[in-house]
Amino acid sequence: MASTVELGRYLEAIVELTRYRDPQELATALLETLRGVVDAANLRLLAIANENRDTEFSESNIENAIVYDLLDTESGEPAFLTTDADLLACVQRQAPVTRDGDGRRRVIFPIFGAHQVCALLVIEDLRGESLPQELLTKLLRVYSNQSFVLSRGQLDPLTGLYNRQSFYERIRRVAQRATPQRRAGDGGVKAKGHCFALLDIDHFKEVNDRYGHLYGDEVLLLLARLMTRSFRHEDLLFRYGGEEFAAVMVNVDLESAEHTLERFRRAVESYAFPRLEPKTVSIGFTALSVELGADKVIMCADKALYYAKNNGRNQVCCYETLIANRQLEPVTVAEGDIELF
Ligand code: GH3
Ligand code: MG
Ligand code: MG
Repeated sequence: MASTVELGRYLEAIVELTRYRDPQELATALLETLRGVVDAANLRLLAIANENRDTEFSESNIENAIVYDLLDTESGEPAFLTTDADLLACVQRQAPVTRDGDGRRRVIFPIFGAHQVCALLVIEDLRGESLPQELLTKLLRVYSNQSFVLSRGQLDPLTGLYNRQSFYERIRRVAQRATPQRRAGDGGVKAKGHCFALLDIDHFKEVNDRYGHLYGDEVLLLLARLMTRSFRHEDLLFRYGGEEFAAVMVNVDLESAEHTLERFRRAVESYAFPRLEPKTVSIGFTALSVELGADKVIMCADKALYYAKNNGRNQVCCYETLIANRQLEPVTVAEGDIELF
C-alpha cells in the first residue's frame, strides 16, 4: 500500500507528464520519474514498429516487428522483436513479464497504444524486492495517453488543450458512457452523468485592439492555465475556437458542474492579467446524455451561452434551468437531422 506522501509524489509526476508537448521530452521525463521510484541498474523505453518505423506495427506480421530505444535512436541497428523472448512474451500476453537469472531480475512492462502494445519499459537488474506495480502501471498509462495525443496532433499548440479537431471523437467517446440526468426537482431521477460547457471570453476583441494579437495570445494562454487548474484532471478541456473554450466534465450532476464552472468564472474575474482590467468569461452548459446527438448538445450549451452574453455576460447559465424557468425555448432538431453519438 503506497503512503499518502508517495501518492502525492505520483500525482505530481502525472500532472508533470501531461505538460510535455514533445515526444522525446515526454519520454525523458517519464524515465526520470521512474528512476526516482525504481531501484534498477538500467531503465529503457523501447518503441515497437514495423520495418518502416511507423508507430503501429501489424500484429499479424509480428515476426517483422522491430524494437528500438526511444531515447537512443543512434545506437546500433534496431533488433527484431522475435529475437528477445521476454519482449515478445510481454507483447503477446499484454502483461508484465519477469525473468530471474544469474541473481539478476529483469522486468518488462507493456505500454499500450490505440489498439495494441506499442512500446515497452524494460527494467534491468532490478535491485529492490518489490515494485510499486499499480502506480507504475498508472504512470505508464498517462505516458501512453499523452504520447498518443501528441502523435495524433490533437493538441492546440498555443494552449496545450485539446484542439477542435479532436473534439467530436472525444465527446462521442465520453457520451457513450454517459447516463441521462435531470436537475433535482424536475421530477426526474438525479443521476450522475457528464456535462458539457462552452466558455467564451467577454469583450476579447478589445484586448487585441488595444495591445495587439500577440498579447491577446498571451491572455488566451493564461486563461487556459487557469482552466487547467480549476477543473479536475479527468475532465476534458478544449480550445474550441479562437477565444472560445469547451469542457467535458465527467461524472458530475448539473449542480456540481455549475459549482465548478462558477468557481472558474470567479477565478477569471479575480485574476490579475498583466496590464489588463479584469477579464471575464460567459459560460453555457448542459447535460451530456447519450440519447442526444453531439450537435444537439453543442446547440443547447451554445444557446445557454448566448443567453449569458445577452443578459449581462460574466455569468454561468444552465440550459436545463433556463428551459425550466421558461427563459429559453428548447432546442428542436428536425428528425433525421440528429447525428447520434
Ligand atoms: P463577446 O463578449 O461578445 O464575446 O465579445 P468578443 O469581443 O469576445 O467577441 P467577438 O466574437 O466579437 O470577437 C472575438 C475576437 O477574438 C475576435 C478576434 O480578434 C479574437 N480572436 C479570435 N481568435 C484569436 C486568436 O487566436 N488570438 C487572438 N489574439 N485573438 C483571437
Ligand atoms: Mg466568441
Ligand atoms: Mg468573446
